[in-house]
Amino acid sequence: MIHVEEARKICLSQRLELQTESLSIEEAQGRFLAKDLTAELPHPFFDVSAVDGYAFRAAEQDSELKVIGEVPAGSLYESEIPHNCCVRIFTGATVPKDCDTVIMQEFSERNGDHVSFNKQQNQGANIRKSGGQIRPGDIIFKKGERINASALGLLRSLGIHVVSVYRKIRINCIVTGSEFANSIAELEEGKIFDSNGLSLEAEFRDWPCEFNYQLCQDDLDSLSEMVKELSEQSDLLILTGGVSVGDYDFSRAALEANNFDVLFHKVKQKPGKPLLLARQAECVAFGLPGNPRSVLISLELYIKDWMKVNLGANPRKWIMLPLKEKHKRRGDRAELLSATYEDDGLKLNEHQASHMLQSLARADYLIHFQENKSLFRAGDLVECLDLRNGS
Ligand code: AMP
Ligand code: MG
Repeated sequence: MIHVEEARKICLSQRLELQTESLSIEEAQGRFLAKDLTAELPHPFFDVSAVDGYAFRAAEQDSELKVIGEVPAGSLYESEIPHNCCVRIFTGATVPKDCDTVIMQEFSERNGDHVSFNKQQNQGANIRKSGGQIRPGDIIFKKGERINASALGLLRSLGIHVVSVYRKIRINCIVTGSEFANSIAELEEGKIFDSNGLSLEAEFRDWPCEFNYQLCQDDLDSLSEMVKELSEQSDLLILTGGVSVGDYDFSRAALEANNFDVLFHKVKQKPGKPLLLARQAECVAFGLPGNPRSVLISLELYIKDWMKVNLGANPRKWIMLPLKEKHKRRGDRAELLSATYEDDGLKLNEHQASHMLQSLARADYLIHFQENKSLFRAGDLVECLDLRNGS
């Protein structure tokens, strides 16, 4: 049995050669950049007034200035501006080349076609300089950065139409078990509804991937057949259930029957001890224990970061937050427990057995209580993942 840290390391070292594709920025939302993106144009494009007011030469601001024209957003004032003159300017307009400073109209006193100012402005005030955010040749976003709404806005404002991104990860999930009913009518004693397929589908909806799941009975031949078919069309294969040592647990055998090398099986963690990682050529497989909480915690701890590193990104950040109450970790495995952040610390949720999802659904953070420490006091900082910001 290996430790959580070792398991994570092995998992993150399983890199695929994911191809890249060029997409329009509209299609690229949520994708991860496959290359650094370099600016050709500056941003802002030109020297822009940040306020409604007057544009003038800073050296002349102490005398009354003659207002000789105006420049609204979208127009240019191209004529020369004689000394001791200024122009009325509006937010977003180009600052005329003869002016070096802008003052807000709130600090001006207009007298016919003249104006005086009741505040001293530093040279350059209220002007957003061309290239002030980005200069031509600057790297706008790095490989592995994800294209979100702000990024899309910036790309559009720089006139960039097409970007190179990693293609979607192809994920198939086999939900193993002979205990699933399809409908209430079929819900005989001993049957349950599969919840893992739907939870995983929901989680992956936020990721650049194609995700499908199907059910498979606890039967080695059927499972092996399904693994064979799906491994050929998957970058990532997830099996839920059937990964422990029961007589009806066939996940490992089905993977091995298809020439998957098992990289680890069993991790010193709770929940999710039977976790398995395997690989066959360009397909990585996770065998997750079937209990729904174990599935979703394994996803947080291993699969999301595996996806991130394969999409050129860094793993998610763990943050240190204080515990609200003391906690005694039992046994010799690391514990992964959910918590809610209340006032000044993390409060562990009640009811966290591996079949329970209610507390996980309401949790803010997942805490990793490492196996080398057993008593955690109130106020102790513990390592945790933000569950409300899953990617
Ligand atoms: P297993 O890992 O196959 O031994 O399953 C462990 C426990 O999780 C059993 O109580 C299963 O009934 C339950 N379980 C397995 N798969 C699912 C699933 N897809 N949805 C809900 N519960 C499941
Ligand atoms: Mg099972």
